[in-house]
Amino acid sequence: MAKVIDGKAVAAGVVEQVTAASNALEAQTGARPGLAVVIVGNDPASHVYVSSKSRMAKQCGFKSVQHTLPAETTQAELEALVAKLNEDPEIHGILVQLPLPDTLDSDPVIQSIRPEKDVDGLHVVNAGKLMTGDLDGGLISCTPAGAMLFVRQTHGPDLSGLNAVVIGRSNLFGKPMSALLLAANATVTTAHSRTKDLAGVCRNADILVAAVGRPRMVKAGWVKPGATVIDVGINRIDAPERGEGKTRLVGDVAFDECAEVAGTITPVPGGVGPMTIAMLMANTVTAAMRAHGLKPPSF
Ligand code: NAP
Repeated sequence: MAKVIDGKAVAAGVVEQVTAASNALEAQTGARPGLAVVIVGNDPASHVYVSSKSRMAKQCGFKSVQHTLPAETTQAELEALVAKLNEDPEIHGILVQLPLPDTLDSDPVIQSIRPEKDVDGLHVVNAGKLMTGDLDGGLISCTPAGAMLFVRQTHGPDLSGLNAVVIGRSNLFGKPMSALLLAANATVTTAHSRTKDLAGVCRNADILVAAVGRPRMVKAGWVKPGATVIDVGINRIDAPERGEGKTRLVGDVAFDECAEVAGTITPVPGGVGPMTIAMLMANTVTAAMRAHGLKPPSF
């Protein structure tokens, strides 16, 4: 049986480190890291995510501000709020919760956030820094940064000689994850919906990362014996065994069968999921320390 990574425990370690850095910043400068979270509309899942981000920010000792805007908000109104937050010296991180309502275009909003306050790591300047190997100068997308922490804890910082396969090529996850693995010297394949013989490609992976959005797509026969399997997928499926109308979360990896072949594996829930918020806090304290001319810790 594979070793199962406890994402909650790793995330708690990151939050502890963030809280210590936040306290150190306050002791040295009198300032607290400031995180502004902006949510537009009534998507229930987004409201759950935003509340837990605001709660965690408070737990880390941050100044946490939440802007809840109605679904009818215009593009100009949203961009005006971001512009105001860009100018606010007490705000070091700005997060606009996605997806936005269909009436709004998310890209110009994200690109209008100052790169040094873009704690989601989605601005082209931050994506570009990552692609050019500048890992210390920008802010890295939270979920891949969290998944990479698992990889480093399992294999160390240097992945020389290891093959890594990332299934998925989104700007949010697949591309930054591939860039992080490459920067750590892995030989990286980025697979996607047009990849031929996906199972064969995956069987070559010492590190296999799945971020697709298809429940339990990765089967045991796709996994190289002893490989590290990181499951990023979050899929809600029907769970009639729990009662009528009940659902549950599963990943993109068929966990039970893959755990018999892999060396290390992440569960869903409780794997990559808790890392996303923890790394958001890490990016916020990093942005705040940089704004005050201090060197942030490495996470
Ligand atoms: P996305 O933008 O929808 O990207 C999905 C990727 O999977 C695309 O590159 C797509 O290929 C590829 N794909 C789709 N079907 C495929 C198939 N049959 N074979 C191979 N590749 C296939 O999704 P995302 O934002 O990256 O998220 C992926 C998953 O991770 C979702 O389940 C999401 O909920 C989860 N996620 C979790 C967290 C977290 O906090 N844990 C954060 C972010 C995302 P093409 O490019 O060719 O279409």
